[in-house]
Amino acid sequence: MDTGVTFERRKTRQIMVGNVPVGGDAPITVQSMTITKTADVDGTLQQIYALAAAGADIVRCTCNEPEAAEGLARIVPRSPVPIVADIHHQYRRALEALEAGVHCLRLNPGNIRKPEHIKAVAAEAKDRNVPIRIGVNGGSLDPKLYEKYGGKVTPEAMVESALQEIAYFEEVDFDLIKISVKASNVPLMIEAYRQLADRVDYPLHLGVTEAGPPPAGIVKATAGIATLLAEGIGDTIRYSLTADPVQEAKIGRQLLEAMGLRERKNVDLIACPSCGRAEIDVYKVADDAVVAFEGREIPLQVAVMGCVVNGPGEARDADLGIAAGNKRGHLFVKGQNVAVVPEDEMVPTLVEWAEFIMEHGIDAAMEKAKASAPAARRAAEEDRQRNLNEKGDDANDAEHVVELIRKDR
Ligand code: SF4
Repeated sequence: MDTGVTFERRKTRQIMVGNVPVGGDAPITVQSMTITKTADVDGTLQQIYALAAAGADIVRCTCNEPEAAEGLARIVPRSPVPIVADIHHQYRRALEALEAGVHCLRLNPGNIRKPEHIKAVAAEAKDRNVPIRIGVNGGSLDPKLYEKYGGKVTPEAMVESALQEIAYFEEVDFDLIKISVKASNVPLMIEAYRQLADRVDYPLHLGVTEAGPPPAGIVKATAGIATLLAEGIGDTIRYSLTADPVQEAKIGRQLLEAMGLRERKNVDLIACPSCGRAEIDVYKVADDAVVAFEGREIPLQVAVMGCVVNGPGEARDADLGIAAGNKRGHLFVKGQNVAVVPEDEMVPTLVEWAEFIMEHGIDAAMEKAKASAPAARRAAEEDRQRNLNEKGDDANDAEHVVELIRKDR
């Protein structure tokens, strides 16, 4: 649904990570990281393909040993998406990764401390036109800054660390930079990004580091990333979850789609929360629908509603939906009842109609339903009345419950 509501984005410079633009007016991108040994070329490539299919635009691989750099040399030419080499401690790995042809480096300034090493990497990256992400991390802040800010990781300390690093790069005239100031504490991370966004116009990579396992990890990462995105801050994102990285990529993509920052690729499933009026197991039908639409590129809004009392109205803006009533499914297109189907065929029918709409459009779907629409509307109205009569306004049977409570006193 196009609401016309958009978030104004902060203006940033644009860099190219391989063929993927980051910053400026480029779409916000999703990143994730492989968890295989990078030296295991086939295993890593398999994971990169899975991440790309789940929505990752860019994938990072660790380059922690010489064998990993050799792996990258074999992975990069076969990867479907640009590859970022993750470097900690050894600047030589950065030089090897550049030699391997990676599309970007990620350096943690807290771990590569010698300015001459950072400058050597920047000079080589410049020759190859390869960007670098400066990844400041609350957990590995330079001890001097930690002390300076009273033995605490503060937003100011993180921003100062990033600015120090940027200065090393700018000294050798290198500006293909993106920056992250991640922390596992959400308010700290939000404030650090806000302050950094006021100081520089380089693109920013957002993330809540070590967010942990789902669902709490997803909540934390979303709280941090979404808050900043709504303020127009952020050019590329990563969910750092203690979970299969395919989930990270999927959730990252879903967040951007939910915020209207990326075009929808897959179905947007709306489902009612269910209540005393529900005529079906809404959770099961919704779960079955998720599975049935999984992997199909059907960017429609599809609603699953537990009853016909409010179903079509609640999902008026959905392209397609189904509401249960009297052991049958009432199919509606743009809130209009168009057909009646048996309950056990609800999900396959949704998929069938969704495919029809993708191929022929909504108007053609209404046309197709012309003959059955009047009868479908009558059937839906009958079920609506029946449901209201049976369950009334008091769907939760409150009077009976109150009586029971009184009895127990
Ligand atoms: S009234 Fe119907 S559509 Fe609304 S939550 Fe209850 S079952 Fe779902």
